[in-house]
Amino acid sequence: MKIKVIFNTNAVSNQFSTGWGLSCLINNTILFDTGENGEGLLRNIALLNIDIAAIRSVVISHEHWDHIGGLWKLLEQGSGIKVYACPGFSQGFKEKVESFKGILLESDKFSQIEENIFLTGEIAGTYKGEYLAEQALVIKTEKGLNVITGCSHPGIINILERIKQDFPQDVIYSVFGGFHLKDKDSACIQKIAEKFIELKIKRIGATHCSGQEAESLFEKLYKTNFISGEVGSEFEL
Ligand SMILES: [Zn+2]
Ligand SMILES: [Zn+2]
Repeated sequence: MKIKVIFNTNAVSNQFSTGWGLSCLINNTILFDTGENGEGLLRNIALLNIDIAAIRSVVISHEHWDHIGGLWKLLEQGSGIKVYACPGFSQGFKEKVESFKGILLESDKFSQIEENIFLTGEIAGTYKGEYLAEQALVIKTEKGLNVITGCSHPGIINILERIKQDFPQDVIYSVFGGFHLKDKDSACIQKIAEKFIELKIKRIGATHCSGQEAESLFEKLYKTNFISGEVGSEFEL
């Protein structure tokens, strides 16, 4: 299964739009998050020769501007696009999805959305002292489970432990996305890295809000199994 990085702070070439936030495309049909703005998102989709009409589902990890910013321009491209949200997202967000003719789907539980593609359902997180709902996406391949995260506000290890409960028989093979470690100290980052090793996770893509220190540490630890995640890059799972 192919993952294409559509939006992030760095790109493989300067022809792409970059900015804060994250967006990646799974199997050419499911967009995970939408980055901070729609112009950049649509521009990168066009530059990558991606058929936008084939994108029938958008998964929103959590309701932060850098993950939902591009959603509205995408929904303007056609009606009936499924938008997977969490029950804990704001009423304003849910109504806006419907006003843009998106099909709003929300779950607080683990669910399958396509063959071998699952959502964790809402996981409780906090941001600046307030409750924040977040979900992650899980792709099952013969190597194991592959996790894609937005910002990991509930804590990346919490998210992985929740996934392990839903898939007790499977190993987590890879994790890609934002780990939100940019404000954490070295000891905390080191502990999380040790947990990844303990969980025998084989490939890591720490990007977005993971922070420079965590990204450098994971890159050093995982070497060729580190996924850098620039716009325009892709990786196979
Ligand atoms: Zn973010
Ligand atoms: Zn966030």
